[in-house]
Amino acid sequence: MAMIFCRGCGKEIHDSATACPHCGATQSGSSSGQQGSKWMAITALVLGIFAILATMAAFADGADSEQILGIILFGVVSLVFAIISLVQKRWGKGLSIAGIVMSAISLLALFGA
Ligand SMILES: [Zn+2]
Repeated sequence: MAMIFCRGCGKEIHDSATACPHCGATQSGSSSGQQGSKWMAITALVLGIFAILATMAAFADGADSEQILGIILFGVVSLVFAIISLVQKRWGKGLSIAGIVMSAISLLALFGA
């Protein structure tokens, strides 16, 4: 857990604190809202990785249409999370872009098959 310096008094406080416990100044740059939205970019990345791995497995071992539909669903959910995360300028821009690239590759591969 990282520590930041208060905007009001300069004392060290926890980066998830919305207000300084010493002087009460609000810390808008590190609001709990931004902290709470990290899961979106992380989920997009994890689902993107899953989609591309599942796509490679499907091409290697062969998959029925039900499995391919499931992989497409993961890819689409990953894309949606990543795009929302980027549009709302949430934390994890790099993770979101990586999620978009991986899910896009797996979707293109699946639809092209
Ligand atoms: Zn303070």
